[in-house]
Amino acid sequence: MSRRRPPPGDGAVDGPDDREHDALPRTARLARAVEREGGACAWCRRPFTPLVVPTTDHLVPRVRGGPSWLENEVAACSRCNRARGHLGAADWVRECRGRGWDPDVDHLLAVVVELGATTRRRGGHRRARDAAEAQERRLRRLA
Ligand SMILES: [Zn+2]
Repeated sequence: MSRRRPPPGDGAVDGPDDREHDALPRTARLARAVEREGGACAWCRRPFTPLVVPTTDHLVPRVRGGPSWLENEVAACSRCNRARGHLGAADWVRECRGRGWDPDVDHLLAVVVELGATTRRRGGHRRARDAAEAQERRLRRLA
């Protein structure tokens, strides 16, 4: 399940804040995300199989301060994870649509709303909170 090779800049070890708040280890978070995403890639909607392996994709990329919380992680196939790079969620949804895929924007919106709420509840993570709120506004225009 965790055979993914993290893209450059995305493989940082969780910081103290993440550990403090997040009891779930990475593999358990990924399993939860796969379940939440209905067993398919959050972007291209391909069902996960032994050949289409789920990876952890940060909605707000780590380079923009996105924490490694379940609220900031969606399950994505490695093809989408690699192709997206550090593109914002809304920009990547546009790109997906251009490729003929149909991401579930309402679902992504629900995850990003939860991320915003979690950053406000936990405090700190200002960059992630601002990015989540910006992505929420942009995803609403795509929903
Ligand atoms: Zn995909």
